[in-house]
Amino acid sequence: MTSNNLSPKEILKNTFGFDEFRPMQEEIINQALNNEDTVVLMPTGGGKSLCFQIPALVRDGLTLVISPLISLMQDQVMALRSNGINAFFFNSTQSAAEQREVVDNIMSNEAKLLYVSPEKLMSPEFTGILQHANINLIAIDEAHCISQWGHDFRPEYTKLGFLKQKYPNIPVMALTATADKITRNDILKQMKIEHAHVHIASFDRPNLSLSVEQGTDKIKKILKFVEKRPNTSGIIYCLSRKECELTAEKLQTAGYNAEYYHAGIKADERAAVQNRFIKDETPIICATIAFGMGIDKSNVRWIIHHNMPKNMEGFYQEIGRAGRDGLPSDTLLFYSLRDVIQLRQFAEDSGQKELQLEKLQRMQDYSESPVCRRKILLSYFNETLEEDCGNCDVCKNPPKQFDGTIQVQKALSSIYRSGENLSTTSLIGVLRGSLSQQTFEFKDLKTFGIGQDTSFKDWQQYVLQMLHQGLFDIAYDDHNKLKLTSLSKKVLFEGKNISLVQVKKKVKEKVEPLAKRVRKEKAIKSNLFDELRKVRTELASRFNVPPYVIFSDATLRDIEDSKPIDENEFANISGVGDYKLERYSSYFIDVVNAYFTKKKGLGNAYKATLEMYKGGSTVTEIAKSRKVQETTVMSHIAKGIGNGEDIDIFDFVEIDEYKNVKRAFIELGREFKLKPIYDKLEETVEYGKIRLCLSHFNANP
Ligand code: ADP
Ligand code: ZN
Repeated sequence: MTSNNLSPKEILKNTFGFDEFRPMQEEIINQALNNEDTVVLMPTGGGKSLCFQIPALVRDGLTLVISPLISLMQDQVMALRSNGINAFFFNSTQSAAEQREVVDNIMSNEAKLLYVSPEKLMSPEFTGILQHANINLIAIDEAHCISQWGHDFRPEYTKLGFLKQKYPNIPVMALTATADKITRNDILKQMKIEHAHVHIASFDRPNLSLSVEQGTDKIKKILKFVEKRPNTSGIIYCLSRKECELTAEKLQTAGYNAEYYHAGIKADERAAVQNRFIKDETPIICATIAFGMGIDKSNVRWIIHHNMPKNMEGFYQEIGRAGRDGLPSDTLLFYSLRDVIQLRQFAEDSGQKELQLEKLQRMQDYSESPVCRRKILLSYFNETLEEDCGNCDVCKNPPKQFDGTIQVQKALSSIYRSGENLSTTSLIGVLRGSLSQQTFEFKDLKTFGIGQDTSFKDWQQYVLQMLHQGLFDIAYDDHNKLKLTSLSKKVLFEGKNISLVQVKKKVKEKVEPLAKRVRKEKAIKSNLFDELRKVRTELASRFNVPPYVIFSDATLRDIEDSKPIDENEFANISGVGDYKLERYSSYFIDVVNAYFTKKKGLGNAYKATLEMYKGGSTVTEIAKSRKVQETTVMSHIAKGIGNGEDIDIFDFVEIDEYKNVKRAFIELGREFKLKPIYDKLEETVEYGKIRLCLSHFNANP
């Protein structure tokens, strides 16, 4: 397939099925087409791939894509082929015959994109092959691998600078989701593209909800969480292998289809688990953080952190694995004193103590935030969010502060009187007056039992908050004993006041259930989405690809909303390009039609209305003959107009009415809402007519 004389915008629509570019995509594409070098920094799911895939299709010749992982190459090639694009990878997993096929396609100039690892790229056999290729663009995917300072350094990447020397006239595009300045400068320098245009997209992912809960009763909270999200895929990240296994087991016992994944299980079994996740067969995976790297599954709907990550980079990357398709997705972090102490200990022992402790502190800032969490998250990546996000637990349910001076004094005074000999657990024991081996020696302290009015769990939260506020330090080299700080002395001896955040009493999930937000009115009642998913799963197994390669969740949602009943309508669905239209649309159209038949033959009624209208019948006649309300007929007509059917709107609306509606529509900011227009026109034009006009404006913008 060649599309050489199509514009980027046309390819976006015809091949990928999208109407609009996302911010920066078009500019990046045009620069590549102008032979200019570019560096693209976009968050996961931001749409980096299209930036090089579209130039590859606009131009004649071959786009080389350097990619570090075989699984990533395979995913991308599969996705491209599912859109009818002649893409290949070249790696050591292929047989000689398969490699031959790739070479033939390069020689005959039919291959549009070729994915290859840096090692393979530099091998003599491949250098030979490339001599015959007409390369038009070199894309370096996961370009942060070039930086020694990054989290994913690959030494072979540092040799890629030879490309610019060998092919000075071929544009290079380096892409990554890692935003920091050191990495960016490394990329420019090592790739020898110092003059490249650098594009930095916002790292905000507004579709991800953010929330933090106390790390107590975790399994209960997890079960509640998954119960509200039936039939969705999610990952639960755990700190240890054992926790992965235990959590999976508890979920299984509760009747959920969950598996675990960690480095302790054999490679082929790991691959099988991953595969079942990708194919929507196992929806829930309890895993250590390695899981999810290098897979492109776009419909991961939620991420739970069973334990706190050690820094914000890791956290951001892990939650970033949810919602690549842009649909609402949820993230939940459990925050506990135990994790904080353990992570601090790791940091102390890491050999980079200052740095790691500082990073951990930022993670705690996020967890303890009294303001919008997204502000904290983005500020870490040097971005400022002006408005509160409205999609985090703090925005939805702001924490209540209270004067906690007395609580704090009780705790600090106990530490002081013990001669700074208490750990967090024995401190709480002393406050609660519970006699145990740990607290026995402190039973005569004046403060013993002074905090009985507060529960053990609540004390844990307050102690955590105190730690976070710097009211004491933990001596990791002295049995984790708590030591007073200059701030604690101010509270004890100088009357300084301290605010604490009220511990929330009820375990209540404030986030509105996912499905409800995705499709507010109908999702649960209509099972159309489930039916569409079923067909997707069937097609996926028939074509041997993961379901999201057939269509993303976002595309299924659009089908659910728009209910296309023929190919014309189906072509307007987001994510449907020509190739998928031809191959898959009929299956989904059948589902939609079956849905309408079930719903009192509404879909057929629409068709029948249009046929009768085209045959010259009036609205009243149609309504009578089909035994439906006139308003129903009008709504069919409106739909027909919106779909660009050959309907003369002036059969139904006077010219003056049309003009008035149009004026009101524009004055009201071009919103497709009936009531404001109805009101503005002082009820002089009926709703039905306004609806027709709006459909007409929509179809003829
Ligand atoms: P990244 O490589 O940056 O993680 P992808 O290129 O995989 O992101 O894109 C993420 C998702 O966004 C994909 O499902 C892709 O099809 C979709 N997408 C990309 N560009 C657009 C666009 N202009 N309009 C709609 N969807 C898009
Ligand atoms: Zn917020």
